[in-house]
Amino acid sequence: MIRTLFANGQVLDCTGATPKSKASVLVEGNKIIAVGAASDVEAAANKAGDHKTIDAAGMTIMPGIIDCHVHPSYGDVLSFEELDIHVGVEYRTLRATLALKKVLRAGVTSIGAPGGHYNINVALRDAVNAGLIEGPRIAAGGHYISTYNAIGSPWPSHMEHPKSSFSVLCNTREEMVVQARREIKDGVDIIKVAGDGDSLTSSGELSGSIDHDDLKAIADVTHRMGRRCTIHSRSGRASRDAASAGFDWLIHCSFMSDDDLGVVLKHRTPINPTLSLIANTLDWGPDLGLTDRILDGYKRELEAASRILTKAHKAGVMIMAGTDSGQGSVPYGEWHAREMEHLMTYLGMSAMDALIAGTKNAAFVLNMQDRIGTIEVGKLADILVVDGNPLHDIRVLQDKARLKIIMKDGVIVDTSEKLRDPTVYAWEKPMLYWPDPRMPTQEFVRQHARNKPGWMQQPPRAAE
Ligand SMILES: [Zn+2]
Repeated sequence: MIRTLFANGQVLDCTGATPKSKASVLVEGNKIIAVGAASDVEAAANKAGDHKTIDAAGMTIMPGIIDCHVHPSYGDVLSFEELDIHVGVEYRTLRATLALKKVLRAGVTSIGAPGGHYNINVALRDAVNAGLIEGPRIAAGGHYISTYNAIGSPWPSHMEHPKSSFSVLCNTREEMVVQARREIKDGVDIIKVAGDGDSLTSSGELSGSIDHDDLKAIADVTHRMGRRCTIHSRSGRASRDAASAGFDWLIHCSFMSDDDLGVVLKHRTPINPTLSLIANTLDWGPDLGLTDRILDGYKRELEAASRILTKAHKAGVMIMAGTDSGQGSVPYGEWHAREMEHLMTYLGMSAMDALIAGTKNAAFVLNMQDRIGTIEVGKLADILVVDGNPLHDIRVLQDKARLKIIMKDGVIVDTSEKLRDPTVYAWEKPMLYWPDPRMPTQEFVRQHARNKPGWMQQPPRAAE
């Protein structure tokens, strides 16, 4: 049995306990078998036999980050066309294997994948577990179950909903239950519902037409089959209805009223706010040419989310960190740890609470709170050794150079091979005739074009 001793660091176990300095952690196989004072754990290691020692002096030993909201099949998309139409299932799956490597190397040892294309998340989960590909542990969701008027229905009704979409349209309760059964038959851990829209959907309105009894029917069949369900719910109505219908956790909940929050509290439903998608968009959208319509919508949303979710946290709702990585504003492997910083900035969390949101609490989405998310004896060995103290500055977790060791399931991740982004094929992107929306009118050509027609440069003279 292979043993690893993380020696003499600060152990931040993410249970909420005060961190212990001059402390060590002993791993045997894929389990943590001792945690405590450096001298005691070293004695235990010597007694156990051969082991490798990692000197963690001056560093923090903590659990691997858990990002409960990643979409490996998306591909860092910039449009609904890219999300739903371009790229077939085979290439999409292969491309996702690189996404998983990037995520793991950002110190994220487990992810929730609430929704995606085809049955890709399930295949990725199984391939990671089989040792076929490198990646974090995955709780896999399949297609979003979506009505018209929700985020899973971005296409106008004069065209057919594409089979390649991340969502399946279900507009009657019967269809919803059938689709949930089918997802479960296909091996998902998570049933994902699109409860309403957002500022990017074609209607531009926050709407959704699924009702409480629809949600209850989905939750019932999901739970009967031992699976869990979650919902994209930005509105108060969808958040409240899903909580009272028995949904296991809610995603976004930005526009809840105090009454809606009361319902969520009553049902003790955890929330994954997913601030990264919005905050990153607002931070860098202007530099990247994002339209004012999206920026204004997200600004309003961040203000509303900040107000109600600060209250939710204070009132004791379990907050779980997740980023929506795979969307263009949150590329894979880049911003997972920043969600914890956002939870401090916008929800007024302490560094300790934010760290717990990104470890112990987020383990809930994988239904593995008893096995991952903290550094405790008997838990799986998902461990980070970080150069710095995240309790003093949570941003150290965003600096990959400071993640000295990433261990997942007892195995240290080899980060020496540099990951290269592959060639992007033209067919992965929607074709724009030209990216600048201005047309070559005569006025444009007169003012901007380098190659003006001869007659503009020199008006023709009448023949003598
Ligand atoms: Zn998402």
